[in-house]
Amino acid sequence: MKYYIIFGPPGAGKGTQATPLAERYNLKHISTGELLRGEIAGGTELGKQAKALIDAGSLVPDNIVEGMIAQVFGKYKDVDGFLLDGFPRTLSQAMDLDEMLESRGEEITGVISLMIPDEVVKERIAHRAKCENRADDAREEVVANRIDTYHRQTEPLIDYYRDKGKYHEVDSLGTIAQVGENIRNLVDSLA
Ligand code: ADP
Repeated sequence: MKYYIIFGPPGAGKGTQATPLAERYNLKHISTGELLRGEIAGGTELGKQAKALIDAGSLVPDNIVEGMIAQVFGKYKDVDGFLLDGFPRTLSQAMDLDEMLESRGEEITGVISLMIPDEVVKERIAHRAKCENRADDAREEVVANRIDTYHRQTEPLIDYYRDKGKYHEVDSLGTIAQVGENIRNLVDSLA
């Protein structure tokens, strides 16, 4: 099994790029953000716990997202791998993921890091807020908190994966098609 992580700040284009990428390489796309929004929409206990945190632009507890990830890993057998989007987001999630994979005799194939400046991120999220009905996109201070959370809690993962030789950067400033091509070139070079 292949295990790719699509990585980058909020608004970098992870979700947009993940769908065609997963299709092309027969991967199951797992977006923790989407899974959490599904729980909220379904009114589940987990969704209730997550909602206030997400609406404030903070992270939900590691055990919640890790439980969701483990469930999906167990469920999909006839794919060539998984494409993780929005996970891991903290060092402890990354270490737990490594343990999870190690216990299955597997490892991360590569981290695809979408590179984009904060200013562009803000513009893209403001635009997305008008198209998709996401409460966490609509308020400027929540977006600012998510970007800040990214720099403080998620960016340290870059060194974690770089030290393992698994970190790869892709320019995410072009058109959707151009960025998609940059990503495919990278994935093909890792295969
Ligand atoms: P974006 O990448 O645009 O910030 P996501 O859809 O990936 O959006 O995530 C939305 C929100 O869901 C995050 O701001 C956070 O509150 C929560 N979330 C998603 N993934 C995780 C995770 N791995 N750990 C903790 N919280 C998460």
